[in-house]
Amino acid sequence: MRHIAIVGSGPAGYYTAEAAQKLWGEDVCIDIFDMLPVPYGLIRFGVAPDHQSIKGVTRRYEQTALCGNVRFLGNVKVGEDVAIGELQELYDAVVLATGAPRDRELGIPGDHLGNVFGSAAFVGWYNGHPEFAALSPDLSGQTAVVIGMGNVALDVARILAKTREEFAGSDIVAHALDALMASRIRRIVILGRRGPHQIMMTPKELGELGQLSRAAPYVDPRDLPDAAEDALLEPGIRKSVAHLRSFAAIPESIRGELPLEVEFDFFAAPRGLVGDGRVRALSVERTRVEAGRAVGTGTFYEIPADLVVSCIGYQTSPIAGVPFDERAGRFANDEGRILPGLYCVGWARRGPSGTIGTNRPDGFGVVDMIAEDFPSSRGKAGREGFDALAARRGLEVVSFDDWKRIEEAEQARARSDAPREKFVDVEEMIRAR
Ligand code: NAP
Repeated sequence: MRHIAIVGSGPAGYYTAEAAQKLWGEDVCIDIFDMLPVPYGLIRFGVAPDHQSIKGVTRRYEQTALCGNVRFLGNVKVGEDVAIGELQELYDAVVLATGAPRDRELGIPGDHLGNVFGSAAFVGWYNGHPEFAALSPDLSGQTAVVIGMGNVALDVARILAKTREEFAGSDIVAHALDALMASRIRRIVILGRRGPHQIMMTPKELGELGQLSRAAPYVDPRDLPDAAEDALLEPGIRKSVAHLRSFAAIPESIRGELPLEVEFDFFAAPRGLVGDGRVRALSVERTRVEAGRAVGTGTFYEIPADLVVSCIGYQTSPIAGVPFDERAGRFANDEGRILPGLYCVGWARRGPSGTIGTNRPDGFGVVDMIAEDFPSSRGKAGREGFDALAARRGLEVVSFDDWKRIEEAEQARARSDAPREKFVDVEEMIRAR
């Protein structure tokens, strides 16, 4: 019997478990650890609450989770409750599927002023991540600046712009919905250091910005390159740029009818945040794009900013005893192998890019690598060994059955138009099981 430990119960973790099952069938025991008592990582805490169809992928993970040889062990912090070396002693292979939950830092003066947040914190706040549930952003000012031109920036801008009716069917947590409904934000600026042809936004997600009931997108037509140049773009980006062109064509008379504006500010690199304890403005340098890179022009201007959310990418959290590539912000690895017996997958392997489905081939690849490194079982103690260690340390491990009871309790207390009301506190989750 092979024993595999997977650390992290998000998409990369469950795809790896699925791959291990497909390869070894009944000859493998898989333990999936999570630091929280609830599974699914990015799906629960990263995917936007109004994108429920994407969250439906958990039904597939549940099929894997319910197999007899797969266990969920929630509320176990690897690196604290159990050392990585201990897991390596107990399991034939340890796979780190811990994602990239930390913000990349802006690294400009003033980035620690009040009401300046990274997207991990801000998204975690409206998605009910226990670490960020108490963030309490101040939404009483008029202007929010969202830094970055990727899909996370779009999520944040859309969530700030939606009405209560537009949150119907979502699982946005009550504390965030209440705060957003009392928000006085009227202008949302999405700031990009490069131009319209360099955005990372995908067409479907960008198109949603044109469908909001109380907000109109604004693109300055002068920022758009000659339309003929779009032909050179990769098809996905070309479709996204077509949305930008349609936003640029919305007449002022129509935009003026809506109370909120979502404005794209291209060729604008953030250089500093200004304020007195709390952010008041963002200092920006005008750029031009040379050989694909943003180059400062020496022209600076200020944008008033009462709230700033920087959506410029994520990093993996280091784990004591695991080699870490500081520059890349992920575990040091070669195609997923950290060293024989210790592997990483998903964003912890390759950084925060791609869709949820990109993690599936990753999971299958790492399982093939384990099979190559260890053609047969290494005679490890596996789950029995871990259970003995957990009992010795008095760990309060949350099982998949426990999670199903937590899930039922969340469904039972949901608003009438919501699939669930998440618990946002670890103790509350544990009590509900
Ligand atoms: P992303 O797609 O990499 O976008 C990051 C943005 O931040 C880029 O526009 C980048 O500009 C900008 N940026 C980076 N450093 C900066 C700096 N120092 N100053 C100013 N701007 C800076 O990352 P993401 O939006 O966090 O998304 C992560 C992944 O999740 C992506 O694969 C995304 O598609 C995916 N995702 C998907 C969905 C969905 O499908 N619905 C939703 C959310 C996220 P440059 O290009 O100039 O570096």
